[in-house]
Amino acid sequence: AAPDPAPPPRQIVLTGGAPAGAAAVTARAVSAWFGDHKVLDRVSLHMPANEVTALIGPSGCGKSTFLRILNRMHELVPSAALAGEVLLDDQDIYRAEVRPAQARVRIGMVFQRPNPFPAMTIRDNVLAGLKLAGITCNDRPSLLEESLTRAGLWNEVRGRLGTLGGALSGGQQQRLCIARALAIRPQVLLMDEPCSALDPTSTNRIEETIHELKKDVTVVIVTHNMQQAHRVSDSCAFFLAGENEPGRIVEADQTEKMFSDPADPRTLDYVSGRF
Ligand code: ADP
Ligand code: MG
Repeated sequence: AAPDPAPPPRQIVLTGGAPAGAAAVTARAVSAWFGDHKVLDRVSLHMPANEVTALIGPSGCGKSTFLRILNRMHELVPSAALAGEVLLDDQDIYRAEVRPAQARVRIGMVFQRPNPFPAMTIRDNVLAGLKLAGITCNDRPSLLEESLTRAGLWNEVRGRLGTLGGALSGGQQQRLCIARALAIRPQVLLMDEPCSALDPTSTNRIEETIHELKKDVTVVIVTHNMQQAHRVSDSCAFFLAGENEPGRIVEADQTEKMFSDPADPRTLDYVSGRF
């Protein structure tokens, strides 16, 4: 007999009104591999709703991998393997009945390099995520304005929504990517070094945006800029990998504590630039 056809993707209809609200993210004993290379070892971290959690640590210690695990992008790499649990509020996003796309609809992502579709208009860039996510919206103009406003870009682009995304400045392009991520009204926004490619003024604007976003999303941000981690985050997790050792969390705590009185001397060395 022929196998049962896959169920059609569930249509999600966004109606007017407020975003769904932030959700807490909890990683429990998450380990990750690429082939037989183990890159994360039993990482557990609670990222509270409506807070900003900063992931800090040297390059190669698994921060980006951890972030991708939080929205099920890790499994897109053919050699990737994973152990552990990730809970969105109290629901495991890796349950057998949850399709990866369903998790990604609730957990948006912004990358280091602004990556709008350069040959698409500003309007289409923002709305692009909806189609991919199988979301229909009964009021696209208001969702467009809402998303661009939340990303801090509306006032700059409201008169030229039909111009190309690629014509914006780097900082504006990154805020366009934030608007695109917000258009699906995610409960969590993951940001992987979102300001590393930007000038200080654009960086400031994005930090202000992050402060505003906390009202209705949970933010997890990877940053190598310790001043930024200090400014934007409520709590921090310090990742470290040894030579031929997978990444682990050395210490996770309230940001003020991490920067003034960390428990581990390696954290103090790292946050104060002595590494
Ligand atoms: P970070 O973001 O902290 O710099 P990454 O998560 O990018 O660290 O990388 C952690 C480890 O996983 C590194 O050793 C890196 O080389 C490896 N890695 C990352 N992505 C892949 C991949 N797609 N295939 C194989 N190895 C990878
Ligand atoms: Mg990285």
